[in-house]
Amino acid sequence: MEKVFNFSAGPAMLPHDVLAKAQAELTNWNDNGTSVMEISHRSKEFLSVVADAEKNLRELLSIPDNYHVLFCHGGARAQFAAVPMNLLGSATIADYVDAGYWAQSAITEAKKYCTPNTVSVITEIDGLKAVLPAKDWNLSADAEYVHFCPNETIDGIEIRDLPVTDKPIVADMSSTILSRPINVSEYGVIYAGAQKNIGPAGITLVIVRDDLLGKAKEYLPEFLNYKTLVEKESMFNTPPTFAWYLAGEVFKWVLEKGGLEGMREHNEHKASLLYDYIDSSSFYSNGVHPNNRSLMNVPFLLANPELDALFLEQAKAKGLHSLKGHRAVGGMRASIYNAMPLEGVQALVDFMKVFEKENA
Ligand code: PMP
Repeated sequence: MEKVFNFSAGPAMLPHDVLAKAQAELTNWNDNGTSVMEISHRSKEFLSVVADAEKNLRELLSIPDNYHVLFCHGGARAQFAAVPMNLLGSATIADYVDAGYWAQSAITEAKKYCTPNTVSVITEIDGLKAVLPAKDWNLSADAEYVHFCPNETIDGIEIRDLPVTDKPIVADMSSTILSRPINVSEYGVIYAGAQKNIGPAGITLVIVRDDLLGKAKEYLPEFLNYKTLVEKESMFNTPPTFAWYLAGEVFKWVLEKGGLEGMREHNEHKASLLYDYIDSSSFYSNGVHPNNRSLMNVPFLLANPELDALFLEQAKAKGLHSLKGHRAVGGMRASIYNAMPLEGVQALVDFMKVFEKENA
């Protein structure tokens, strides 16, 4: 079978070495005679998986000691609800920076718990979508926190600025986490669904600053309460143990590949290969300004949308899977998370060149 490169936005490609290791130890993990899925989450064997995962993640992100690392249920969408219910206290207003689909989804959820101040930051430069500089964002003096999504997975927009504020910054890093270095101490809460750069779907990472605990609403479902999760070491209810184990293996893989500086270099290299080709062609286009182009999700359009189906069919026959754009925006999207090798992006560009030649 031809080698397959999977450009899905999530669940996304996982590192092959991690999958091969998981396969090799699936039925007899750690000489235990069972899989890692079949042992108690409270056993000393599994607790060593948990301790290693946290240690390696802390090393990767240089997480300061006054931040807790939580592994939760419910995906990033659960955090759209958990964030306001954990952080508002008696406040009623929070800033929500809006640069695309996922920020808007967080705003829709937040409306159930507070009055989100929607801060529109999308503008146009040279006919391309761009994000206003953070100093021009219209934040509210009364906001309890500022929420933003640094990488809009569907729109292919990356915000490299941080909100200019002394309020806690909350970031939906589902599509950003582990793709490049960040300074955790600049944030109050970071959360991310796992199914892009962390591991399989089913586990959600939350990194929360210590002083933000203890303000949860009475009615907050307990399994979303950050303070409870800190106290119970992310084991208030039975955690998704296999996803946790695989995430731990991915953290080891990222460390082996040079950590987050290594990932940044790898990701910038892949992204520029693809964007440079799109820019050089009049057959394909990307509508995002270079300042705000995502390193992880590259949406692009064919000049003639009637060719979309043929493009997808021929790409799939070449082993290039899941290139269809999100139903909200159409066109194509190549998600090129950490596990996508340069070889995969090169194969995509080679295919796009041939397709252009045959159909332009
Ligand atoms: N935020 C972002 C940036 C996302 O890309 C996604 C999913 N693609 C979500 C939130 C929703 O994540 P989940 O399905 O884990 O709830």
